[in-house]
Amino acid sequence: MMTEIKIITISIETPDGRLPSAKVKVPNIALGLADLVPPMQKLCDGIVNLALQRERRKGETISCHKGCEDGLCCCQLVPLSPPEVFYLEAFIQGLPSEKRSQIFTLFQILRKAMDQKGLTEKIRNIESTDEHQLIAYEYFRMGVFCPFLEEGACSIYPLRPFACREYNITSPSEFCADPFSKGIRKVKISRSMTTASARLAGELCNQPPALIPMPLLLEWARENAAIAQQKWPGIWLFERMMFYAIGEEV
Ligand code: SF4
Ligand code: SF4
Repeated sequence: MMTEIKIITISIETPDGRLPSAKVKVPNIALGLADLVPPMQKLCDGIVNLALQRERRKGETISCHKGCEDGLCCCQLVPLSPPEVFYLEAFIQGLPSEKRSQIFTLFQILRKAMDQKGLTEKIRNIESTDEHQLIAYEYFRMGVFCPFLEEGACSIYPLRPFACREYNITSPSEFCADPFSKGIRKVKISRSMTTASARLAGELCNQPPALIPMPLLLEWARENAAIAQQKWPGIWLFERMMFYAIGEEV
């Protein structure tokens, strides 16, 4: 039997301009949350690029680049949406065993540092935005780098989370020693795929939108393995994804 394929034209207007329109062939096969991540990464990059172009037109310089020698943003508490958790967990599981063990070890080191500071339980039980800010600050001050940082550069750069793509600054990188200071000028983006994918997952799973801190990636994926196995009709899922991706400004 032939698989139904729908050609969907994507044309997105943002306050920073229009993304080049694209035709996407979507097969009507059953897809899970992790399958939404690659198309959303493309949308995320397009939206972020428009925001960076806007800043450059204003004469600003973007301080961020791959392998930034300061690299301190990789000590921040990175929020992941459920689709990203499953996507990254599948990526880790697919690594050669030596590399996989190395990543597991780095997650364990991070976890130990958090336990010593009493941060694990706090991070698990964040209830408000104010509380999140305080804990994120405490986490940053711990000074432990993300398990995916390798020799000063992101080892998963093409796969990195939406939050990492969406965090760009125009202030000098010296300020990154304290990312919570008033000196930091973040580039505003018109739509956040972190938020869109969390809301979409919330609707699909009939739960409030959730953001999972990077250090809890492996255990959250384990505890929610049943959600990773859930599938929806591909065309319908893609259309829901587009609704959340382009439907609301941040
Ligand atoms: S946020 Fe700061 S440390 Fe991170 S890449 Fe940008 S300039 Fe470098
Ligand atoms: S995923 Fe990559 S860019 Fe993001 S915090 Fe980790 S090392 Fe840095």
